[in-house]
Amino acid sequence: MSLCDLTPPYIRAIAPYQPGKPTSELQRELGLNHIIKLASNENPLGPSPHAIEAMGSLLETLALYPDGNGFDLRSAISKKFSVALPQIILGNGSNDILEFAARAFLGKGTSAVYSKHAFAVYPLATQAVGAEGIEVPAKEFGCDLEAMVDAIRSDTRVLFIANPNNPTGTFISGPELRAAFERVPDHVLIVLDEAYTEYLSAEDRYDAIAWLNDFPNLLISRTFSKAYGLAGLRVGFGLAAPNVIDMMNRVRAPFNVSTLGLAAAEAALGDSEFLARSVALNQAGMMQILHGLRALNLPYIPSWGNFVAFKVGEGLAIYQKLLHAGVIVRPIANYGMPEWLRVSIGLANENALFLEVLGKTLKQNA
Ligand SMILES: *Cc1c(COP(=O)(O)O)cnc(C)c1O
Repeated sequence: MSLCDLTPPYIRAIAPYQPGKPTSELQRELGLNHIIKLASNENPLGPSPHAIEAMGSLLETLALYPDGNGFDLRSAISKKFSVALPQIILGNGSNDILEFAARAFLGKGTSAVYSKHAFAVYPLATQAVGAEGIEVPAKEFGCDLEAMVDAIRSDTRVLFIANPNNPTGTFISGPELRAAFERVPDHVLIVLDEAYTEYLSAEDRYDAIAWLNDFPNLLISRTFSKAYGLAGLRVGFGLAAPNVIDMMNRVRAPFNVSTLGLAAAEAALGDSEFLARSVALNQAGMMQILHGLRALNLPYIPSWGNFVAFKVGEGLAIYQKLLHAGVIVRPIANYGMPEWLRVSIGLANENALFLEVLGKTLKQNA
């Protein structure tokens, strides 16, 4: 019997996360020199200039460990969102936050509830600790909140909800969300993943952070990877009651956020001009892409994020053809949507090129 046959069965059952194809990989494979990547919901503007400047001044200090408590960044978050320091935990990406929740609150004999077509990390983090995942059927590709709360069992310890959801872009209004939370029992940690919250329009915006006072079992997860433009650095944070954060800190690796990540995130958090520019660019780009998808007669799911899922029939085949034309989008068959692709909103010229190449590809296929 080999060493690997001795790993727990729940580890062997894991299907690893499939990231978007990096530009460098496609370059290597096909020798293309002009490639656009609209596959991982990254900010097409790059990082905030303030973040770049903050990192530049720190290169000489990199022989030293970072501040393991992330005091400056946590203080900036505390100020910006009016939460106390003990309510804040930093992660190596918000992926880290989701895993802390799973490691601290789940384990053998427990279960987590999430929606079909939800972010792939929820089942992964659940499986990795030997807990059972309860996948609740979606409602028009979005979370069926009522059914999710009804699916909670006595052994359930975590409820994962992304709002807006990835990869479908669907959104649940603040009042609906809050009403559902009222029905969640105290023994369940509500993990509200708000990776795309910055993109919400003024009328859709809701303030889940203010709800922390009412729900001692609420954890809000945020990221610097999307609207703040720092995906490559890996920084996110979680907000919850101090006792929840304390449990999560017990499973957090020391120095989980790097010196550069801490400084860049702090600078990006203060750069409201960049954030506004990113959101405005996304709004315009979303209109451009939706207009193009309608012109091609392709069904799509209205999206509240910086990406949109659209239906092409044979997702993987179209994805491959787009790759050969130098356009990387995301197949989402592993999310139970083999007929769909997901495209991230890029710069105007990237969106135009994507639509042009997609149009040509579909014509060849017809
Ligand atoms: C992109 C994304 C994240 C953020 O991942 P990071 O680890 O912070 O880069 C979290 N949740 C959802 C739903 C996402 O789409």
